[in-house]
Order: sequence, then structure tokens, then C-alpha cells
Amino acid sequence: MKLLVTGGAGFIGSNFVRYMVNKYPEYIIYNLDLLTYAGNLENLKDIEDKPNYKFVRGDIADREFVQELFEKEQFDYVLNFAAESHVDRSITNPEIFVQTNIQGTLALLDAARAIGVKKYLQVSTDEVYGTLGETGYFTEETPLAPNSPYSASKTGADLLVRAYNETYGLPVNITRCSNNYGPYHFPEKLIPLMIINALHDKELPIYGDGLNVRDWLHVEDHCQAIDLVLHKGRDGEVYNVGGNNERTNIDIVKTILKQLDKPETLIKFVKDRPGHDRRYAIDATKLRTELGWEPKYTFETGIKQTIEWYLNNKEWWQNIISGEYQEYFKSQYGDR
Ligand code: NAD
Repeated sequence: MKLLVTGGAGFIGSNFVRYMVNKYPEYIIYNLDLLTYAGNLENLKDIEDKPNYKFVRGDIADREFVQELFEKEQFDYVLNFAAESHVDRSITNPEIFVQTNIQGTLALLDAARAIGVKKYLQVSTDEVYGTLGETGYFTEETPLAPNSPYSASKTGADLLVRAYNETYGLPVNITRCSNNYGPYHFPEKLIPLMIINALHDKELPIYGDGLNVRDWLHVEDHCQAIDLVLHKGRDGEVYNVGGNNERTNIDIVKTILKQLDKPETLIKFVKDRPGHDRRYAIDATKLRTELGWEPKYTFETGIKQTIEWYLNNKEWWQNIISGEYQEYFKSQYGDR
């Protein structure tokens, strides 16, 4: 069985590649990644020599390259994690989001259709549903109403995946997940950013009033959900993935400070992000009842494990924050 994972050098993709390489030694797992600022092969150091793992560098939006790769390798399954994924970056530079997230998905769908894969799985996000008020949950039937260029590009991709199933009969699934956290999370995202700043006694920048709510899911629980959908998901179906762990951003930051024994005076409220969605919360009943998915982590056990991982893997994140990321951070938040 040959599996193509795109974006396997990123945060969730690398956790998924590791999970699959270890769980299914009989499968060959290909990791296709362009290695943008977010891609880091250091994430996969521990499995790079495994006989069932292969890395290919390339752009999912390069149609010719993708077509040739698919013809040569004849993949059975394709899982698309590759994306431009950071909302703030989509606000300053939307174009690359359309290119990678929409054109890239289209190129993969065409190549998957041409060789007749057993399944194409699109890794999507709850952000395609827009924002919630104080109550309610996103279900798979919630209308799509993206608010940022990032979520609009992910929505466009989801609609293409749906259309390829309806029009050409390509076997597909879409998973829509809430915010992930865990090991190998790039330091520009909320949880690692706060852990690393707190360790350096630097200010912790929080958008607006800090009361935006996200539904946090440990990345290993996400990987397990994707594995289930890949093997057991019904053709053409969408599955929401979420951990029932709603937390405000300020709660998250206070939890981190407490665990690291740092003062709350490090918190600094900064100007809110434009179009900042207030609340996301996922109803994952379909995944639980149809496919028997159960998350392994609560937020309390997961955040503890994550903070410990960052404490034990300083070299990994120090290498990242010393480089290009530093410039980006300065352009977003000033020189802190
Ligand atoms: P990430 O930014 O950490 O990783 C993205 C990876 O894609 C990187 O390795 C990058 O090099 C690669 N990539 C980017 N453009 C590419 C291209 N043109 N061709 C090939 N590779 C390319 O992202 P992530 O947080 O791991 O997210 C993975 C997927 O999960 C994305 O599709 C994202 O939309 C979705 N998702 C993420 C979250 C989250 O909380 N992180 C939640 C829900 C859904």
C-alpha cells in the first residue's frame, strides 16, 4: 500500500507521518513537501531512516511535477495536509494561499483522478464554518462562511474535493478539525509562542481582550482520527474532529504561565487581528458514533505533555527562532 502525505514536514503532517510509519510498517509512506518556512525535516529526524518512509521535495501546485510523480509511484491513498496555514500571513499576503491551498488541491485531485486512487483525503479546518456566538457547535451541516483569506482558500479547496466526488466519482473524505496543539508546533502559533516567550521572560502578546474561544485538540488525537477516516470513512463524507476542549486564549496563557511558574504580568494585550473569529467549537458526534473515535488526551494532560516536550526539545525550537522567523515575528509584533 502506497500512501502520499503532502505537507508531511509541517506540524500536523510530521506527527501524522510518524504515527503512520510506526503503526503500519507494511505501508510505504511518501512525504511530499516544498519545505516552506513552515516545513522542517528536523521534525522527522527519528524516522527518516525507516525503510517504509520516503521524502520527496516539491510543490503541490506544480501540476506537471505532481502528475509525473503520481504516474511514477501509483499511490493508493493521498492525504493532503500541505497548505499555507497561518491566518495572520493570509491577511498580509493572500495570493500564496490561493496558489497553494486551491491550485495545489486542484493539481492533486487531477493527478489522483488520473491514476484512480482508492481515496483522496483532504485535511481541512473548522475555520471554513466561520464564527460562532456564545453558544452552539459546528456540525458537518453548518453552512460554510469563511472570514479570513486563509479559511476562504481552505473552503475553496473543500468545495473542489466535494465536486470531484460528485462529478467524477473520485473517492474522497474531508476532515475538519479544530485548533491542534502538541509537539513540533511551529513557534508562531499561540501555544508554542507563549511557552517560548514565557521561558525567556518576554512579553506574551494576546490579541484584543483575550476572550476568543478555540476548541483545542492534541495533535495525536487528530492523527488517530485521520487514520480512522482514511480506513473507514464513508465515501464522500465530511467528518468534524474536535476535542470538546473550549478555552479562551487568556485561559490558555494563564495555564502555561502557571505550569512554568512565571508571573501574569508578562501578559500584554495587543491590537486585535482584523476579522478575528470570536468562537469555534466542534461537534464531533459523527466521528465518535460512526467510526468509534475517542480522544486520548484531556486538555490538562495534553498541555502538560506539550510544555514538557518544549522544555525537553529546546534545540529544535531554538534553531527555528534564530532564523527567518525572527524577522517575521518583528514585522508582526515589533521588536520585543
Ligand atoms: P504547517 O504550516 O505546520 O505545515 C504545512 C506544510 O505544508 C509545511 O511543511 C510546508 O512546507 C508545506 N507546504 C506549504 N506549501 C506547500 C506546497 N505548495 N507544496 C508542498 N508543500 C507545501 O501546517 P499544519 O498546522 O501542520 O496544518 C496542516 C493542515 O491541517 C493544513 O492543511 C491546515 O489547513 C490544516 N489544519 C490545521 C490546524 C491547526 O491547528 N494547525 C487545524 C485544522 C486544520
